[in-house]
Amino acid sequence: MSYQIPRGTQDILPASSSKWQALEQTLRHFCYLYDFNEIRTPIFEHTNVFKRENDSSDMVNKEMYTFQLENSNTSLTLRPEGTAGVVRSFVENKMYANPDLPVKLYYMGPMARHERPQKGRLRLFNQFGVESLGVKDPYADVEVIVLAYSILKALGLNDIKVLLNTLGDDESRSAYRKALKEYFAPYVDDLCADCKRRYEQNPLRLLDCKIDHDKECMKHAPSMRDYLTEESKQYFATVCNVLESLEIPYEVEDTLVRGLDYYTHTVFEIVSMNKEMGAQSTVLAGGRYDGLIPYFGGPQNMSGIGWALGLERLLIALEAEGINLEENNGLDAYVMVLDPEAKQYAFEVLTELRAYGYRSDMDMMNRSFKGQFKSVDRLHAKTAILIGNKEIEEQTVTIKLLDKKEQVSVPVEQLIDFLDQNLVEEEHHHHDHGKE
Ligand code: ATP
Ligand code: MG
Repeated sequence: MSYQIPRGTQDILPASSSKWQALEQTLRHFCYLYDFNEIRTPIFEHTNVFKRENDSSDMVNKEMYTFQLENSNTSLTLRPEGTAGVVRSFVENKMYANPDLPVKLYYMGPMARHERPQKGRLRLFNQFGVESLGVKDPYADVEVIVLAYSILKALGLNDIKVLLNTLGDDESRSAYRKALKEYFAPYVDDLCADCKRRYEQNPLRLLDCKIDHDKECMKHAPSMRDYLTEESKQYFATVCNVLESLEIPYEVEDTLVRGLDYYTHTVFEIVSMNKEMGAQSTVLAGGRYDGLIPYFGGPQNMSGIGWALGLERLLIALEAEGINLEENNGLDAYVMVLDPEAKQYAFEVLTELRAYGYRSDMDMMNRSFKGQFKSVDRLHAKTAILIGNKEIEEQTVTIKLLDKKEQVSVPVEQLIDFLDQNLVEEEHHHHDHGKE
């Protein structure tokens, strides 16, 4: 019997957690600038939060981790995405009554989908997402797209493309659905099993199929744009015009329908063009949802728009472009214990260093001088603070400034002042990924 991590999941080990933290910090910073506030919802919900009638998406139909505890007839599901839970909470907490609509929210955390694991596709992965709830205005659509684009640009991604489409309103969609049904009727038998189901449940989803994607019949399928109502056309034109005025590059892609069934009007993706992304090139995806707030019992005509990005996929894209988010993580000081009797005094000095904001550590393994000095090196400490019997007697510390290759002895009560003067420069070098 061995203990191994479940397939499709991963540990984020300390060696890469600073990269995650840097990324999270940038995301939070941008939400702060754009006035989006964090919401944290449970990682499981009642199954019907995700499983809505007539939903034909793979995610809802075959990827959900659904469970029921013994002696209970409540069916729960690990969240496969963030939007449904956020909208459930928005309605349950009557946030729709907020005088300052839209309510602009962001979330971050793990999502679970039982899919076939591959590069950029996990069973437990992390998403960061935003939702702008209670507004139906093309500027709100543009706002979230600009937010997404600005974040990815600020992180340094260059090789990206914004893909945009509209699914129109209910009227446009049902006209289009009808046209797709007629068009695909002679081809259904040649399509994959999933597409046969999609044909019945929601023919729009045929366009999103990864298996049938290259078939001849897909290429000549009717286009949504020919079935849009005048109002839907106008809405989309405004989104496009404003994006142009802001010089956000985008491409309209007729076949973009997105993986979830609740979308209406604007849908979009940001894809990485880097070859290393393979089939998992979509880093971020989202769209407008007219029906979701009413589904959860909120006001009938209230709409929302949002997107989610996969953090693991984003990290792959960043790496593929050679972008390193790692902060310089060196210690300010490493306290070296030269004599066993000096340990307690050294520990007091260490505690003092920390109290004054110096990132520091010391040996607890009672290692030799040489062994401790190797740690100084490995931990990229800026200073080594040597403490032995001699230093205790003289009430001093011996400080090695590693980059200057200098060594000085200072009275212990001047240690902090000394570091303030000699390390202060470095303090301000922490670069801020939030600024372009
Ligand atoms: P795909 O077409 O790649 O399956 P999706 O349509 O299921 O994506 P969404 O539900 O829109 O994806 O999720 C938004 C983002 O979350 C994706 O663009 C991707 O970056 C990330 N994502 C989705 N599923 C996974 C997964 N299984 N593993 C890692 N990241 C994922
Ligand atoms: Mg998917």
